[in-house]
Amino acid sequence: MKRKTISSKRLHTYIRAIIQLMFFIFFPSAFTTAFSGIKYIFTQIGAGQPIVWTSFITVLLALCAYTIIFGRFFCGYACAFGSLGDAIHAAYIFICKKLKKKPIQIKKNWRKALSLVKYGVLFIIVLLCFTGVYSKITGWNPWDVFSMLRAGNFKLGGYILGCIILFFILIGMALCERFFCRFLCPMGAIFSILPVFPLFSVRRKKENCVKGCSACERCCPSDLIIPEEGEWTVNGDCFQCQKCIDICPKKNTHSGRLFFKGNEIWFTILRAVVLVVILILAGI
Ligand code: SF4
Ligand code: SF4
Ligand code: SF4
Repeated sequence: MKRKTISSKRLHTYIRAIIQLMFFIFFPSAFTTAFSGIKYIFTQIGAGQPIVWTSFITVLLALCAYTIIFGRFFCGYACAFGSLGDAIHAAYIFICKKLKKKPIQIKKNWRKALSLVKYGVLFIIVLLCFTGVYSKITGWNPWDVFSMLRAGNFKLGGYILGCIILFFILIGMALCERFFCRFLCPMGAIFSILPVFPLFSVRRKKENCVKGCSACERCCPSDLIIPEEGEWTVNGDCFQCQKCIDICPKKNTHSGRLFFKGNEIWFTILRAVVLVVILILAGI
């Protein structure tokens, strides 16, 4: 019985890694394209110009609609920057294990406080767009640097500041799981305040928990406490990574309904396929 649990967890980990790799290769710009929609809207409003329908807005609305229905599956499985962070953090943990060193960790109460910073980042970017300043400052954007590097463009002469910021983000990604997503991502800030349907959010029956167990909380990259069955609130910081479902020794956590737990391979693949179709239809 135990062997079966371990192998299904491993299988889910591999499937997630494969899905992340596929999206990284074929849809690396989904997050930056969606956020360009936000920048465009506020730039136009600030300039008193009409908002014309663009592909940026289509992708933005498509990803927001998808997130409202499925939760942040895009963040957990499909965003290139989130996947980059997962890979770097996994490599860091692997190296620490090999060297028999304890990984450096950011304290939990700091992590809680830092998770508010992303709203400040969003506010500043929106303000810069609204005032027309954003388009005048160039060379600082770490996402531009990431996009250039990913496209094999190493002419980064005008992006020294962007390279430095990206370097520090990569260090943070190594030390703390989902560092950028939790603390800095302005698109993550938007996703986290969307009114997500509680259809596929993670739940548990606390009365069925193993006494003293907190495995789901400890493995959660957002330090979330899984809500009780029947609650309607959805925590916007849940990345839908499903780790809490995979780790539960009593299979007490689920994000599915009726006959399925929510971390079944078919359901994971189904959500990925729906996302692919949506991104293709949105013009990515
Ligand atoms: S929080 Fe931002 S960077 Fe992280 S996965 Fe979501 S969109 Fe991507
Ligand atoms: S891992 Fe499972 S048993 Fe342990 S606290 Fe979480 S839901 Fe309860
Ligand atoms: S571990 Fe569970 S609660 Fe935490 S982010 Fe992943 S799916 Fe959400």
